[in-house]
Amino acid sequence: MVRLAFGGFLLILGFVGYQVGFQICMSGEGVLTKFLTLFLSPALPLEVLGLVLQFGGGVLAIIGFLLCITALSKPIVRVERVEAAGETSISKLQCKFCGGRLEEDSVFCPLCGKSQV
Ligand SMILES: [Zn+2]
Repeated sequence: MVRLAFGGFLLILGFVGYQVGFQICMSGEGVLTKFLTLFLSPALPLEVLGLVLQFGGGVLAIIGFLLCITALSKPIVRVERVEAAGETSISKLQCKFCGGRLEEDSVFCPLCGKSQV
């Protein structure tokens, strides 16, 4: 669940960063750009800042999205694996004809002698 929250946070942060970068590239002047230049050096051109924000935001959003997907898909995969392992172990350990117990990977049943292949 920590991974999912972190992924969601990155996704939102990346999306916001992309939007801000896009706005800087399109308009240039704005309340948000003036606010940002208070923290960043004025020597840095706004176009570069906008491009960096767009690119970085896009990458962050993709990473966050992938984190969300992996966090959500992992438990499902684990359940499927357990079910598949349970089925194979049951069918391998029982004779198809008499239901007697079999040794692992045995071709013939020790009780009725019939082939399991
Ligand atoms: Zn048998």
